[in-house]
Amino acid sequence: MAATYIILMGVQGAGKGTQAKKLAEELHLPHITTGGLFRGMGQDTPLGRQIQEMMKAGHLVPDDITIQVVRERLKQPDTAKGAIFDGFPRTRPQAEALDTLLKEFGGKVTVVPFFNLPREVGIRRITDRMECSVDASHVYNLNTNPPRVDGYCDIDNALLKRRADDTPEAAARRIDLFYQETGPLFDYYRQRGVLVEIDADQPIETVTEVLKKVVNAAVKHEK
Ligand code: AMP
Repeated sequence: MAATYIILMGVQGAGKGTQAKKLAEELHLPHITTGGLFRGMGQDTPLGRQIQEMMKAGHLVPDDITIQVVRERLKQPDTAKGAIFDGFPRTRPQAEALDTLLKEFGGKVTVVPFFNLPREVGIRRITDRMECSVDASHVYNLNTNPPRVDGYCDIDNALLKRRADDTPEAAARRIDLFYQETGPLFDYYRQRGVLVEIDADQPIETVTEVLKKVVNAAVKHEK
């Protein structure tokens, strides 16, 4: 069976990360998030420090660094059956590099669900976001998905914190950057017949159901 490569697209705050986690569990595929990979590089090396600075300022990390980090990640054996990309690709050179990489692995992009969300809703969602200080994959939203106990993670009781780059200014900048930098990818993937738009301004469970249908249809189509 062909490997399944899914690219989740949408502005920050559209729920990509939350949906990616659910989808990864359901399909037993690794969830590859470039933001997470970059944050995991820490501050110990000059490259790590340079990346953290760019993230804090709301700038994109240069394509060559980003592509190299993804290439290394795709070499790991857990990606043999495919992967779910979240936050990558963000630019046309990254999309082209990914096509080349996947070809090397004998695969191609299966489907690109695009979570569509109004700008103001996106900014509010980002500034309301909190994550677990022990495991950053435990993410909450003070309005739409609050923790059971204020300020603490439901799963491991650790303190919740705001990401350094989740200020309203950085959020607005990232959303505008998304349309500037990533906008051209809509056409890129539309032309390949893999882009599917999903209304992200709906409850998490509704979006999950729609996403499952979209992915199942694409996987069946590819078989
Ligand atoms: P995210 O966790 O997806 O919101 O990403 C946080 C930050 O990491 C972004 O604001 C960028 O600075 C950087 N970043 C993540 N993914 C990429 C990418 N594909 N290309 C360039 N920069 C990225």
